[in-house]
Amino acid sequence: MLCLGIEATAHTFGVGIAAADGRMLANVKKTYLPKIGSGLVPREARDHHRRVADGLIADALAAADCTMEDIDVLSFSQGPGLPPCLHVGKDVVTRLAKQYKKSIVPVNHCIAHIEIGRQQTGLGDPMTVYVSGANTQVIGFANGRYRVFGETQDIGIGNALDKLGRTLGLPFPAGPEIENLAKKGSWTTLPYSVKGMDLAFSGILTAAEKKQGSKENVCFSFQETTFAMVTEVTERAVAHTGKEAVLLTGGVAANKRLQKMLQTMCTERGARFAVVPAPYAMDNGAMIAWTGLIMHKKTKPGTLTILPRQRTDDVPVTWR
Ligand code: AMP
Ligand code: MG
Repeated sequence: MLCLGIEATAHTFGVGIAAADGRMLANVKKTYLPKIGSGLVPREARDHHRRVADGLIADALAAADCTMEDIDVLSFSQGPGLPPCLHVGKDVVTRLAKQYKKSIVPVNHCIAHIEIGRQQTGLGDPMTVYVSGANTQVIGFANGRYRVFGETQDIGIGNALDKLGRTLGLPFPAGPEIENLAKKGSWTTLPYSVKGMDLAFSGILTAAEKKQGSKENVCFSFQETTFAMVTEVTERAVAHTGKEAVLLTGGVAANKRLQKMLQTMCTERGARFAVVPAPYAMDNGAMIAWTGLIMHKKTKPGTLTILPRQRTDDVPVTWR
């Protein structure tokens, strides 16, 4: 049983092919890069995705050494995401479904990050820290849904890093370069913004952008402050739910300092900790394929309409 999945929520157009025995047979992608000094322009991202779609599908089939006839089911990221990008994923998968007579499983992007993370790390029931460009959520399974225990009230932590990077004149994506600069920095005070179980980054971002002096110090302090906030909320979520593991995923999961903070917290609490391997932590098609595969037959056919604001906790989890 094979599922071909398409990811197209924002910068990345990805195609993955997952097999029922847990092998990821293909995971190819291309990422739209905004012009230097600019953020994502949705129409440009859409045009990028349209341009690369057919080539990437062919690449994925070649990597998996199969044809469309061998594929049993299709999936795509239905939301949350940018409407012009989501439409490309939906249009491509609808066309393939008609042409090859396949059924389609719509997949929630955030849930796909969790499911591929569980599959890759073997953590059965973790508290998931999902930190990416657009999203920052602490998510745990309870009573048939993935519940959001804490989340950003404004922008995603990756977006905050990228915006800070733009102000500091760093190329996009700025996360890796900020991580490097931070290694040579020391402390300068920034506001700390945890509200109950939620987080806010835009005030800290504004304060950081106004700081005079060394880039290194701003990067160091921005990381220390925002990562401590994420760790605080995660620890409280783990304490309240009694979960015994923490899973770190999303593009920002690559950051060694964030990994270290969460690892330390988990060690102190006797919880397990794992980071999703990079190709499956950033936006990718394999996670959509894998989630489509495990949802297939366990969910009723629903709407294929894109859902740009679909929440993680909107989706009944019938496959666990
Ligand atoms: P995603 O939206 O999941 O594809 O992740 C993209 C985000 O990850 C961007 O905002 C990047 O700046 C961020 N990112 C990538 N590598 C790192 C890193 N080493 N440290 C912090 N953020 C990172
Ligand atoms: Mg993502």
